[in-house]
Amino acid sequence: MSGSALYETFARAPLAFDRGEGSWLVAEDGRRFLDFAGGIAVNSLGHGHPHLVAALTEQAGKLWHTSNLYEIPGQRRLGERLVAATFADKVFFTNSGAEALECAIKTARRYQYVSGHPEKFRTITFEGAFHGRTLATIAAGGQEKYLEGFGPKVDGFDQVPFGDIAAVEKAITPETAAILIEPIQGEGGIREVPTAFLKRLRELCDQHGLLLIFDEVQCGIGRTGKLFAYEWTGVTPDIMAIAKGIGGGFPVGACLATDEAAVGMTPGVHGTTFGGNPLAMAVGNAVLDVVLEDGFLDEVKRKALLMKQGLASISDEFPEIIESVRGTGLMLGLKCKASNTAVNGALRQEEMLAVPAGDNVVRLLPPLTVTDDEIREALSRIRAAAKGLSEAAA
Ligand SMILES: *Cc1c(COP(=O)(O)O)cnc(C)c1O
Repeated sequence: MSGSALYETFARAPLAFDRGEGSWLVAEDGRRFLDFAGGIAVNSLGHGHPHLVAALTEQAGKLWHTSNLYEIPGQRRLGERLVAATFADKVFFTNSGAEALECAIKTARRYQYVSGHPEKFRTITFEGAFHGRTLATIAAGGQEKYLEGFGPKVDGFDQVPFGDIAAVEKAITPETAAILIEPIQGEGGIREVPTAFLKRLRELCDQHGLLLIFDEVQCGIGRTGKLFAYEWTGVTPDIMAIAKGIGGGFPVGACLATDEAAVGMTPGVHGTTFGGNPLAMAVGNAVLDVVLEDGFLDEVKRKALLMKQGLASISDEFPEIIESVRGTGLMLGLKCKASNTAVNGALRQEEMLAVPAGDNVVRLLPPLTVTDDEIREALSRIRAAAKGLSEAAA
């Protein structure tokens, strides 16, 4: 046995945390890290948010799990609230983003099947995408490094270059069922899809009888300053996968769909043991209580501007380290000139956490509850990291 009892699938930093307080994580050795990784856009309300802690502990004292053989009142309520706040009419709860995507893909295929088009089962996806690590979602993501060695790629996914509408048009065949896209690529490097492109996808879907699926697992739940990123664009999907931020750190995911798109999801065709369990629903409802509060999303937008302006001036000062700043709201990326892992490592030296992404980007995903002072503190640590790297290179 080498090293640890755990699969060696993660390149873990030699850091373990003992507790969290808002935007801060306290290491076992007592060091306090400013957490702008947020468990990869999961800790939407920071660590130990009192309302979430209360909701979870209250539910834990009452009931943990019953299965979906019975009514789950918290699930009904969270479903109704998500429907009221979005394009959707129907919700299926899962434990993770990948499962939400699996449900989304299955929903699209079933729609075509019950609409008299069993031949339509293929989904068009985009280079740089990330949709999870199940067999179907690695096929959807299409990244060779995640597919290698896992046998034949699950059939039914056709990948086209990011932002290439002619390639999408060419990829549509009589077997196409759906188009799947992240409105802002997260793992791919905080790459925003232009609104005009999403509009064109909507038109193509309507023209060819395809379903438009948005993956808002990372960009949803207030991250961009709207509850969902698609709200910035005026384009609505037929199906949407969410997860990460909706649980604030508790495993929750969901697939949202219109009545029409969900028409094939009839009794018995899909299921889950844990999805939508009472603990998860208590936390999900508590997250929505906070994010939907009057003025909360306006504050996200205001703080995002403060953050982005500060980052832009650091990029101006150290262009040899940080080439540019991208993203919307509190989903920001530093497009690096130095290596993104070096920048991420230098930030950790400053006791600040961020997350590397594709396209040589470092992601900044602070809690939506981050304060102005914490943003200023983050900017000062990012500047110190950039200055250190710049001097080391000189
Ligand atoms: C994280 C992520 C997923 C996968 O979610 P898991 O909970 O890890 O299964 C899917 N899509 C996007 C956009 C993500 O960021």
